[in-house]
Order: sequence, then C-alpha cells, then structure tokens
Amino acid sequence: MGPQLDEDQREFQTNLARWVDERLVPRAEELDHSGDFARDLFVELAELGYLGLMYPEEYGGSGVPNPHVYFTILCEELARGSMGFAATVCMHGSTATHTIHAWGSEDLRQRYLVPALRGEKVGAFAITEAGAGSDAAAVRTRVDRVQGGYLLNGTKMFTSNGAIADFVTIVATSEPGKGAKAHGLYLVDTTSPGFSVGRRLEKFTTHCSDTVELVLQDVFVPDSQKLGDSATNAYKALTVDRIFTAALALGTGRAAYDAAVRYAGERSQFGQPIGKFQAVQFRLVDMLAKLEQARLYTYHAASLADSGQSITTEAALAKIIAAENCNEVCQKAMSVFGGWGLMTEFPVQRFLRDSYFPMVGGGTGDIMRLVVARQIGL
Ligand SMILES: Cc1cc2nc3c(=O)[nH]c(=O)nc-3n(C[C@H](O)[C@H](O)[C@H](O)COP(=O)(O)OP(=O)(O)OC[C@H]3O[C@@H](n4cnc5c(N)ncnc54)[C@H](O)[C@@H]3O)c2cc1C
Repeated sequence: MGPQLDEDQREFQTNLARWVDERLVPRAEELDHSGDFARDLFVELAELGYLGLMYPEEYGGSGVPNPHVYFTILCEELARGSMGFAATVCMHGSTATHTIHAWGSEDLRQRYLVPALRGEKVGAFAITEAGAGSDAAAVRTRVDRVQGGYLLNGTKMFTSNGAIADFVTIVATSEPGKGAKAHGLYLVDTTSPGFSVGRRLEKFTTHCSDTVELVLQDVFVPDSQKLGDSATNAYKALTVDRIFTAALALGTGRAAYDAAVRYAGERSQFGQPIGKFQAVQFRLVDMLAKLEQARLYTYHAASLADSGQSITTEAALAKIIAAENCNEVCQKAMSVFGGWGLMTEFPVQRFLRDSYFPMVGGGTGDIMRLVVARQIGL
C-alpha cells in the first residue's frame, strides 16, 4: 500500500530504507539520550548524494526530475529511524539551502550551497522570536543600512540547527511594527563578529535536533548577502516545506505502527498474542487507516509541488492531516504496548514525543487552518 511511486523512486526508497535500517535505527536511541548531532551520518548522507535532492547537478545536487517527491521520501524514511536527525537534515536540505539557491548570487551559491550539499557546512533558518511565533509579521530583529551592507540586531528563538550551523538565513525588519512587507532575508555566517548562540533549550521532543536562541549584536552583513528583494515572495516559496514536515510525521507514525504490529504478535496475555484480541486489532487497523490517509495526501501535495502548481492549501492540509494523524497513531501505539510503552527501553515513547514536533514546527495546526480558511475565501 502507499502512494504510486515510479520505478526509480521505489528503488531510491528501497536503498534509502536499507541505509536507515543499517546506519540510523541502531543509533537512534543513543542520539535521543545524548542529544548529539550525528555529524558522521550527515556526512555519509551527503556522500551518498541525499543532501542535494532539491538542487541541480551544477551545485552538486542530484538533478532528479521530481525533487519534492524525492525529498518527501527522504524525510519520511529518515524520520522512521530518528525524527530528530531527520529534522536536522530537512531544515538543512530544504529551507536553509533553498533560500540561497533561490535568492542568493552565484558567488553565495558557490561559497555556501555547494559546501552545504557536500555536508561540509550546516544551515539554519531563523524567523521566530520570543514575541513573534505564529504572528511572524511581528519580528523585531532590526536591520539598519550602513556603508556596504547592513547591521542586524535582535534575538531569535527556537532556531533548529542553530548550535551547529555555519550559516543562518535570518529574517529581520527595517521597520518594526510595519509587518511582513518590511521584512528581508539576510545570510549570516556564524563566524561573524556579534553573532552568538544564546540559550540551548531543553525539550521533550526530537532531542538530537538542537533548538536554540540566537543573539545578533551589530552583526555586519555585506550587501551581497541580502537574499532577494521581497521576503513576502520568499514566504510563499517556503510554504512547500510544510509538505516535508508532514513527511517527518509520516515516518515516525510508520515506525510506531510497525513497532506496535510486531509487539502485538510477540506479547501474550490470557494464553494468546494480544494481536488476537479484537480491540487490539481494531486499534492497529485504525492506525493503518490514519497512516495511509496521511501518506496519500502528503505525496499528492509533493507531486503537485513538482508539477509547479500553487500548493498553499495542499501544503497546509498535508501538515494538518499528517501531523495530527501520526500523533494519534503514536498515542494508539503506546496503548498497544501497555506498561512497557511508558518504559524508555522501548522506543514507542520516543515516537510519541517526537510526533509533537510536526504539530508545531513550521506553524501550528491552528495557523495551518487559518492559511486554508484564507485560501477558501473566509
Ligand atoms: C522544536 C521546534 C523547532 C523549531 N524550529 C524553528 C526554526 O528552525 N526556525 C524558526 O524560525 N522557528 C522554529 N520554530 C518555531 C515555530 O515555528 C513556532 O514555535 C510556531 O510557529 C509557533 O509559535 P509559538 O511557539 O510562539 O506559539 P504561539 O504563536 O505563541 O501560539 C500559542 C498557541 O496559540 C495559538 N494561536 C496563535 N495565534 C493564533 C491565531 N491567530 N489563531 C488561532 N490560534 C492561534 C497557536 O496555534 C498555539 O496553540 C521551532 C519550534 C519548535 C517547537
């Protein structure tokens, strides 16, 4: 069952799934406990060409014909192993690098995009601030024009990859209070004077994806590192990343479902495997129904993105469906495991914890509903 992938995509998925089973799954628990970034696995992925799926060959990318579907497969499969690791790769391989490919000069592409796809540099994207979460237009990080460039001042909150990043695309405003039309995107090298990592936030989900505060104090950004003219256009283009967040949810939902089916066959009570009880069977079938719905819609949205259509509604719906369905799948998986579900020696509690990330990252379910409501004219 699942989406209709063509032969090349199925082969890609099979090879990637093997890598995930051999290399990522055995490390997932240790990464969850340590919170470490598995740089060696990140470099391996780059060497295998997976980090460049969204980009043309001239920058070291794969040049695949349907990059959104391929990147969706990547996010889903990696998240089946470790949502935290997958979230790092997803942020790096789409949002952060996309801003350079789409709006950066050729020189910036050579200096940042090319090494990023080789796994030599890590990227991040920072819009959220303490006072600007769902209301992203309320950004207060300030940009001021100076000779030869700009000065950035402010504090970003909840930046994924912030502690390990070599470059960060920062959203800043030239007129606080004027909304998104005063926003611009600025590529900041993390070695720049005045740039520092503030608080490293402890969280109950996706432990091996770091989430930090970034502090900018008179950080100079040369003219050449302003990305594009309009942040509003950039936001439209970045909505596609919601599909990849949906794919992260899908991967973790699948991991939870697979684990629950296995456990239902292994665990016996009242003289038979618990999978023989109709209540447990129905729970597993409900999980499969949720998962299939999420998978079909997520790949539908990815295919539409590849066909060049506007996907504002579909990307938001994909995130609503996949994030909420897969969170439910993980909750049901917990109940199949009974008391053992609560024990850290089984990964099902990690799947449930991680399934909360796609419910918030890239915008909450409420905000996704607001986006769709506007699209249907409400
Ligand atoms: C693990 C993690 C990683 C992240 N990584 C990044 C990153 O790399 N870069 C980045 O820029 N940001 C990142 N974020 C930030 C993320 O995008 C925000 O957390 C998200 O947009 C919500 O903002 P908030 O947390 O301030 O919640 P709030 O906006 O304060 O929302 C609180 C509640 O109010 C509801 N709400 C708010 N406004 C409305 C409304 N108009 N209508 C209905 N309900 C509403 C929300 O749905 C939510 O339930 C990350 C967040 C997390 C948790």
